[in-house]
Amino acid sequence: MIRIVEVGPRDGLQNEKKYLDFSVRLELIQKLVDSGLKTIEIGAFVSSEKIPQMAQSLEITQKINDIYNIRKSKNQFPVLVPNERGMQDALKAHIKEVAIFTAASETFNQANINCSIEESFERFHPVLNLAKKNKIKVRGYLSTCFYCPYEGKIKPQKVVLLAKRLLQLGCYEVSIGDTIGAAAPTEVATVLKGLKTEIRGKKIAMHFHDTRGTALANVLESLKYGVKTFDSSIGGLGGCPYAPGAQGNVSTEDIVYMLHGMGLKTGINLQKLIETNQWLSEKMEKPLVSRVAKAGLPKLKK
Ligand code: MG
Repeated sequence: MIRIVEVGPRDGLQNEKKYLDFSVRLELIQKLVDSGLKTIEIGAFVSSEKIPQMAQSLEITQKINDIYNIRKSKNQFPVLVPNERGMQDALKAHIKEVAIFTAASETFNQANINCSIEESFERFHPVLNLAKKNKIKVRGYLSTCFYCPYEGKIKPQKVVLLAKRLLQLGCYEVSIGDTIGAAAPTEVATVLKGLKTEIRGKKIAMHFHDTRGTALANVLESLKYGVKTFDSSIGGLGGCPYAPGAQGNVSTEDIVYMLHGMGLKTGINLQKLIETNQWLSEKMEKPLVSRVAKAGLPKLKK
């Protein structure tokens, strides 16, 4: 079984120009649940001045809790929390999983969250303490693990060290991100070789962007190394802020299509995902980039 972490309603929408209102975002999450996705990132407790796309994330989370009873649900609905204040909001909303983020590039961290890698780890301490106290799972995102838009190539040893450090801090899983979508499979392999033990312990997820068309090849390479969790977004939502017009996260439809074709199970109904893509394209007022959604499923019998 391969676990897909749907990041469209957060990581995806956050990087789109078009803002979706509360009710559309809520409906999107419900459609994603209906398609069989078990883990859906539903929002970010960040300043809506900085990231207007994520406004009302608390209200969305509360509504999701009314509908699915987050604490008792088999589904996971993680939210992103940048700091202790975000974590306080998360507690109000009864969530059971949060995500924290840092980057493997010093310059990217400064540009993105205005602090050094070391300082970002200091910010994690109060968040992780609160999480532990309230039995909340914490997922760590590590961005720019292969290339940084400012620094270029990132040293694999650095990525391996930071991923291990996030796990030691108390994250149950670390998502290794190719934020600008530039990695080739051989580069992915180098990082994964350094994380063999952690992969065996099911503590590593991969987060690929399809900016340059290498995402599915990188998924395939990661599968060879035993990775069983992948992040993706419906319709490839997300774009790449450093490559105007580029594709975003690997699309959930495309990754699920490939996995099912390989005989791997995901528990996801691909036809429903394609329908959600069509519905969402109308709301986004643009075609979404999934190739599978565009082409449809092939006929299996004459
Ligand atoms: Mg992403």
